[in-house]
Parts: sequence; structure tokens; C-alpha cells
Amino acid sequence: MFIWKDILEMSRNIPLHQVILNMEMFETGVDPDEIKEKLSKMLKVILEEAETQYGKKHETLTGMTGDNAFKLRNHTPNFLSKFSYMATVTALSIAESNASMGRIVACPTAGASGVIPGVFNAMVKIFNPTFEEMLEAFIVAGGIGKVIADKATISGAAGGCQAEIGTAAAMASGALTYYIAKDAEKVGNAAALTLKSIMGLVCDPVGGFVEVPCVKRNGNLVNIAISSSEMALSGIKSVIPFDEVVDAMKKVGSSLPQSLRETGEGGIANTQTAKSLVSNLKIFLL
Ligand code: SF4
Repeated sequence: MFIWKDILEMSRNIPLHQVILNMEMFETGVDPDEIKEKLSKMLKVILEEAETQYGKKHETLTGMTGDNAFKLRNHTPNFLSKFSYMATVTALSIAESNASMGRIVACPTAGASGVIPGVFNAMVKIFNPTFEEMLEAFIVAGGIGKVIADKATISGAAGGCQAEIGTAAAMASGALTYYIAKDAEKVGNAAALTLKSIMGLVCDPVGGFVEVPCVKRNGNLVNIAISSSEMALSGIKSVIPFDEVVDAMKKVGSSLPQSLRETGEGGIANTQTAKSLVSNLKIFLL
């Protein structure tokens, strides 16, 4: 089992990404070079799709989403930095591509598949990193995801959206922080700050389709990942350590009623407008 406290302890003498690779090898028996090879393939797909889908219109199954990335791409940002703007357009693009059955890397899940491409595409365009630097940051993202998966859950059906898109954002925040600072403690703070910010977020897809509110949550959550990373890089610490935040998230997830865990019965899915959209969709899909 991956425990962040142990990872942190080991990273005092070994780079964080190497610690994570070693731990994965001890757990699975797979050679670190082989793990890196697999992750390289995933990262290449993420970067290719981010490039191809950036700001495109998509035809999704329900039509409730599909033109959000396009609208944002054709808008001049008033508030977002170049980095955040690019990350947001990318996150929306990939989430809409997922909703139209496009090629995605479920990182950690399909519903939350826009967040990691968001930060990595912005990283490429703004900082021009080497592939190896990005791969190291991606390994760190994987380590954070593994801690949450081992100690809690990354499934919206089990723990609400906090567990799904919250994990994606914590992974993205940690990856960004590692790319900039190579500081394991700051990485843990970034992940903890992110997860704390969205604790309790419910899973409430309209009609059970991964479109509303999922697509726009990808666009918003990528910015929580970025601001948490910025705070952690400045030296701001999470008062509650990452492991404990994950434990708390698990308890909150288990206490959510079934209606708020991917059943499409509660939250946004239970609004008047959602119900009317879904009943029209049923006629359309029949
Ligand atoms: S609302 Fe549910 S289905 Fe949608 S992204 Fe969140 S966890 Fe996934």
C-alpha cells in the first residue's frame, strides 16, 4: 500500500519519482524501466490528444455539452493567465472528447480525464520542458493517485466526485509542483490543498451521462490544481497532512447517500431542468 508519509521519508535521499517507481516495483514486481515505458506511452497519447482536440467542437451523445472548449478558445481571457487559460481549454476539450467517445487516457478515470492533459499541455506550451521532465512529473502524479486509490477510492460511485475529479486535480497539482520545484514536501502540500478544497463534492451526472456537470468540472478543477500548486510552491503548507486528508475524504465519501454517488438521482441531476432534459432525451434516444 502506498502511504504518503513513507514516500516522503524515502524521498529524503532519492528523487521522489524514483521512490514511486521503486515502490511500484516492490508491489508489482515490474521493472522500473518497463513501468516508465508504459507511462511514456500514456503520456504521449495525452499530449497528442491535447494537441488534436484543443478547442474543437464535439458531437456528444446527448448534445448537452460539446461546444464549451470551442467557446473558450474563441474568447479572450480577462482573468486567467496564459497557463491557466490553456489548461482550461485543454481540460474542457478532452472532457468533451470523452463525452463523444474520443480517445482519452482515464487518468485516473474517464470522467476526470481532462485535468491532467490540461496541466501537461499548458506545461508544454508555456515552459517547453523535455519529455523526461514531463515523465518524471507524470510518475509523481501516478504516485499521488495510487496513495488515494490504496487508502480511499478514486471512484465517483464509491466516494463522490471528490474522489474522482478530486484525485485528478490532486495528481495534476502534485505533478506541476514537482516539475517546478522537485520538492516532495511541497508536492504533498499541493495535493492536500487541492483535495481539501473540494472535499464533499458529490457525483451527480445528469441522466447518468458523463457530461453535465462533469465537463465543466474538469475546466474548473484544473484551476484549483494550479492555484494549490502555486500556494504550495510559495511555501504555504497544508495544516492537515495529505494522508489524513485522504482518510477524511474516504469517510466523507462513505457517508454520502447513494443518490449522490453516480446514480444520477441527486444534486444537479435532481433539478427541474435536468429532469426535463432527461425526459426529452429519452424520447430522442428511443
Ligand atoms: S459528477 Fe460523477 S460522473 Fe461526473 S465527473 Fe464527477 S464523479 Fe465523474
